[in-house]
Amino acid sequence: MFENLTDRLQGAFDKLTSKGKLQESDVDLALREVRIALMEADVNLKVAKQFINQIKEKISEQRALESLTPAQQIIQVVHQELVSLLGSDQCKLETASTPPTIYMLVGLQGSGKTTTAAKLALYLRKQGARPLLVAADIYRPAAIKQLQTLGGSLNIPVYSEGTSVPPENIATNAIDFAKQSSLTHVILDTAGRLHIDEAMMAELVRVRDKVSPTEILLVVDAMTGQEAVKVAEQFHNTLGVTGVIMTKLDGDARGGAALSIRAVTGVPIKMIGTGERPDAFEPLIPDRLASRILG
Ligand code: GDP
Repeated sequence: MFENLTDRLQGAFDKLTSKGKLQESDVDLALREVRIALMEADVNLKVAKQFINQIKEKISEQRALESLTPAQQIIQVVHQELVSLLGSDQCKLETASTPPTIYMLVGLQGSGKTTTAAKLALYLRKQGARPLLVAADIYRPAAIKQLQTLGGSLNIPVYSEGTSVPPENIATNAIDFAKQSSLTHVILDTAGRLHIDEAMMAELVRVRDKVSPTEILLVVDAMTGQEAVKVAEQFHNTLGVTGVIMTKLDGDARGGAALSIRAVTGVPIKMIGTGERPDAFEPLIPDRLASRILG
């Protein structure tokens, strides 16, 4: 995960740790390299600038207290700033006070939404929940079939009504079914298109308004970099997204999307996808991811 970024950052810090006493110019040079590393990782320009400024400020505060800042302390500051960029504390998925909890998954086609719906169901079941998967993408029969196959292989029920019932009705019927069957979580796999369009957004708004989901979770592909951030801004502006699920962090994603999305949109990444298998899915723990990035 983010190997290039990690290599780059390690390179910058190695130069510092190999020095005995640090001069201000050494620190400046290292921070310049950190900035280049962030740019190469496709981190949003404003976010990267702010990140470096925060670090500079913290280091100069420390300098005021001590005559010199050891390299280890600088690495520590970078770690803290990475954590804060990722949202500081882990943002857990909300649960409804009366079941079922409703998670509405939205996102572009190919982002990994259907796979993620199944992963989320499996994750919840491991925690003792009784989830229901709902095929609310009525435009792609293949997507319905894919969800049924995934649900079947994981032994998780899948609710579908084919392709002729409006998605908001499928969603409400599914929720009624979940209540009758004492299921605790309803996961709505909504329609995705290749690009955001008005019709898709209007449909998602209708589903949202009809079911008042506990969470609206946007699934985005980490490999798409700053495009993922733009997509998140658009979905958030129209729908009010409550959490991001970032997929494909196992691939050669450079890290820019993961490090920018919260700072740009204010929406936290709650879960991450780390592979194609149904269990390659975990909560985003900022401290842990920052440590992974720093290597
Ligand atoms: P949808 O069109 O958004 O429903 O996307 P799909 O669920 O069909 O996923 C598209 C492709 O991405 C599939 O080949 C998935 O196996 C793959 N995929 C989804 N999540 C991940 C992930 O976290 N890592 C990797 N490597 N592949 C993923």
